[in-house]
Amino acid sequence: MQKGNISVQTENIFPIIKKFLYSDQEIFLRELISNAVDATSKIKTLHARGDFKGDLGDLIIDITLDKENKTLTISDSGIGMTEAEVMKYLNQVAFSSAEDFLKKYKDEASIIGHFGLGFYSAFMVAEKVEVVSKSYKKSSPVKWTCDGNPEFTLEKGERKGRGTDIILHIEEDSVEFLEKERIQSLLDKYCKFLPVVIRFGTKTEYETEGEGDDQKTIEKEVDNIINNPHPAWKKRPNNLKEEDYKAFYKELYPFSQPPLFWIHLNIDYPFNLTGILYFPKLSNSIELQKNKIQLYSNQVYVTDDVKEIVPEFLTLLHGVIDSPDIPLNVSRSYLQSDANVRKITGYITKKVAEKLNNLFKKDRKSYEEKWSDIGTFVKYGMLSEEKFNDRAKKFALLKNIDGAFFTLEEYQEKIKAVQTDKYDKKVIIYSNNVKEQYAYIKSAQSLGYDVLEFDNVIDNHFMQHLEQKLGDVTFVRVDSDIADNLVQKDEVKESVLSEKEQEKVKEIFTSSLGDLKGGHIEMKALSPNDHPVLITKPEFMRRMKEMQAMQGMDMGMLPDSHNVVINTNHPLIAEKLVKMKSAEKKESFADHLHKLALLNQNMLTGEELNSFIQKSIEYMQ
Ligand code: ADP
Repeated sequence: MQKGNISVQTENIFPIIKKFLYSDQEIFLRELISNAVDATSKIKTLHARGDFKGDLGDLIIDITLDKENKTLTISDSGIGMTEAEVMKYLNQVAFSSAEDFLKKYKDEASIIGHFGLGFYSAFMVAEKVEVVSKSYKKSSPVKWTCDGNPEFTLEKGERKGRGTDIILHIEEDSVEFLEKERIQSLLDKYCKFLPVVIRFGTKTEYETEGEGDDQKTIEKEVDNIINNPHPAWKKRPNNLKEEDYKAFYKELYPFSQPPLFWIHLNIDYPFNLTGILYFPKLSNSIELQKNKIQLYSNQVYVTDDVKEIVPEFLTLLHGVIDSPDIPLNVSRSYLQSDANVRKITGYITKKVAEKLNNLFKKDRKSYEEKWSDIGTFVKYGMLSEEKFNDRAKKFALLKNIDGAFFTLEEYQEKIKAVQTDKYDKKVIIYSNNVKEQYAYIKSAQSLGYDVLEFDNVIDNHFMQHLEQKLGDVTFVRVDSDIADNLVQKDEVKESVLSEKEQEKVKEIFTSSLGDLKGGHIEMKALSPNDHPVLITKPEFMRRMKEMQAMQGMDMGMLPDSHNVVINTNHPLIAEKLVKMKSAEKKESFADHLHKLALLNQNMLTGEELNSFIQKSIEYMQ
């Protein structure tokens, strides 16, 4: 037996390993299984090259729990290590890489997925670690033991076949890692798609046999295999069918609705990246859907927090990206400036834009049907990524009240004849609540205007974005003072009232309504079928308020004003009101029409609403 110190020159890193990573202890399992996978891949490669002529045998990696002896063992049938290799790899290579890792970790706790601590991560949970290994080369098995300080022993070991057992004697503080359920869930998290079969004991399966009354359920003990060693993203796109992609999605997110479509990423130059990104069906709670992309490195799970690697708007996508070219033991803040990561980000953005463009071009109808799901995503992308914006302006769609879709260019072409204002800007009219703004929509349509449906959380920002980017368009909500913008148009109907009569009507309303707190009264020759009185809100003021509300600011400063539009062509105005005799009656009638308009806007409440109803009843009597 040989005894020694792993490292004499440096400080004792064992207490540091325990302390620093306490919150992410669980990664030890991934690190050790990764080593087992590497060792297995190496023997396969040697075999394929003819450098190892023996029998490969069963290459399964076994994870075993022994609660009684408080051990967790990881066994592989990989290349194994000779005595000299144990000395070299465990005492020197592994030790110094653990030291390097800890140095980095001390400076920067945000290392992605805490990747790279390696073999010594075992000491986060174990008080003693035994390694029993037998190399594929002709040599006898060795056993290395270390009990959590720089001293180790090396002696003759016992192992029948080629490979390595890592036996962890779990310490008192970490007994959770002796629980079957805990280990199972860790294996599910980190090892789901490792390229070598991982087995964790056995499990019971139930099968039914026979038919009718003779039907029996039989219990069967079968191997508990953790992983799918050949996940879809590693296969060639040509070999996969639609069902395969959907099945893989189900494998990743068993409880989600099927995806809309997907992109298979596959590139090996100038960087290596594979993966499948899915477009999910979006629900309204966007936040819940974020951070579902999983990052792998050669099929080893790293993290599901990929915001440094994938542009923010793409975090709405689901799926997997796998790249050994993403540096994992650097700080997160460093990642964004890493040249490879920047290239990867650009590549993914480009692929996503290409996919959308193809769908749009190939089958516009089906693209339009999906717009309610992908629209949010596309708008989000246009707002946040200049490059994506440049690509997406060709396939971003606007939807009008009647359910027709237009590209930005098509829409501007459609409205420009009727909806250009005195400043030569195209006025885009939208509704963000079709039910509440119904009367305004009808009225706008009767004037020959088109109305867009804009009811998404992101639409406010998107409008401003388009105003900026397109330059010569302006958005107004259908219940706002559109008239101010479009009043110059000759399409406006002629009024049946003379100017003098209109003046009189305006006077009646002015004295009846009193102070409008900054709002104004406006006479307008609408259709006789439109409402007699309409309420509009200053577009500018409303937007200011919306912005304030979104930023959580106090809205006390801005007055809650509204304009009153009087339809001079409505019979109640043009015939009834003008013919009334008593001034008192006129004012009361005007007041009633105004309140009716307020009611239509949900703006009549409390005492006012009550007396309005009272008065309506009187009128009817
Ligand atoms: P890394 O895996 O990054 O090289 P580790 O500290 O995890 O660093 O391991 C150090 C070295 O120890 C490995 O490179 C490998 O040569 C050797 N090693 C670790 N585990 C095994 C194993 N299960 N079988 C064979 N060799 C191993």
